[in-house]
Amino acid sequence: MTAADPVIVIGGGIAGISCARVLAEAGVDVQVLDRGRRLGGRMAVKNIDARAVDTGASYFTVSDERFQAVVDDWAARGLARPWTDTFDVFEDGARAEPKQGSLRWGAPGGLRGLVEDLADGLAVERHTVTSVSRGSGGLLVDDRPAQAVVLAMPDPQADRLLSPDLSAEVAQLADPFEPVLALSAGWASRQWDEAFDGAFVNGDDQLAWIADDGRRRGDDASVLVAHSTPALAAEHLESPESATQPMLRRLMSLMGIAEQPEWTDQHRWSFARPTGARDVDHHLSDAGIGLCGDAWSDRPRVEAAYLSGAALASALVGQLQR
Ligand SMILES: Cc1cc2nc3c(=O)[nH]c(=O)nc-3n(C[C@H](O)[C@H](O)[C@H](O)COP(=O)(O)OP(=O)(O)OC[C@H]3O[C@@H](n4cnc5c(N)ncnc54)[C@H](O)[C@@H]3O)c2cc1C
Repeated sequence: MTAADPVIVIGGGIAGISCARVLAEAGVDVQVLDRGRRLGGRMAVKNIDARAVDTGASYFTVSDERFQAVVDDWAARGLARPWTDTFDVFEDGARAEPKQGSLRWGAPGGLRGLVEDLADGLAVERHTVTSVSRGSGGLLVDDRPAQAVVLAMPDPQADRLLSPDLSAEVAQLADPFEPVLALSAGWASRQWDEAFDGAFVNGDDQLAWIADDGRRRGDDASVLVAHSTPALAAEHLESPESATQPMLRRLMSLMGIAEQPEWTDQHRWSFARPTGARDVDHHLSDAGIGLCGDAWSDRPRVEAAYLSGAALASALVGQLQR
């Protein structure tokens, strides 16, 4: 490793990109590697039936002024839009009182576009990393030398990459993640209440959440996205399609829809969200290996991932200057 080697950020979700951006703004030479065809990670968008559908995160919320500044900029440029602060609730299969909470934000072009916007001007390469190790000359990401390495991804994914001799860093990766299946379905016309935005589904064996993708994106397309319970996802992890009909039947029954959809799409999230919580927002080892992402928070979500990446970058800039 030499100071001439770049900092390599592995993971182009919002945590990795916020980290890379803060590093680049501090004048650090930074290279982002992500295995996906597009950036965004779990802020995922799939093109289905000639329209983009948010198949990962449903929305984001804002409570921190640093993230608020970023969101204000997205909103001013029409990339993000306030969606709603109220969702319906299904309690044991029956409609209950709607629940009001914080303002939820969506993105007309899909949430992935926000990460891509944040990555504008950064050096990004599509590459699936298989190992992070300590060679005789310093840190290596596969065979690339790095001044420091950031792993911005779920703990189980980072764990696969770190070589066993980096045992202090491996020991930090203890947060388990749970799976979710995301079933998208599109109809020719709206089959449900005009004012429906989304619903928490409580006490159900199959579904945990339903979002109206047309309402959150602002184009009023007749598309619903239903998220499974973690238990249902775990049961169908090897063959997610086997959960499509049960999930669809439950979705149609809850929403009072009689007509079959024109299309469906099933997406498997093996590592959808962390089940634990941390009271620190990143980890940076003396060896120059940084860990960040939504799991580095007490409330895993898009905002937490953004803040975690930015916090790690600030700490890393300090370490590189020593
Ligand atoms: C179904 C679902 C619903 C959700 N709903 C919400 C919600 O409503 N509101 C909310 O705030 N949050 C929600 N979330 C959580 C939110 O999406 C995450 O908190 C946030 O996107 C995490 O960002 P991240 O950068 O930490 O991780 P990720 O987005 O997972 O990014 C990790 C990146 O690392 C890359 N990567 C992994 N391994 C490698 C490798 N070996 N080589 C190269 N690249 C690699 C991946 O391609 C990915 O791009 C939801 C998530 C899911 C899955």
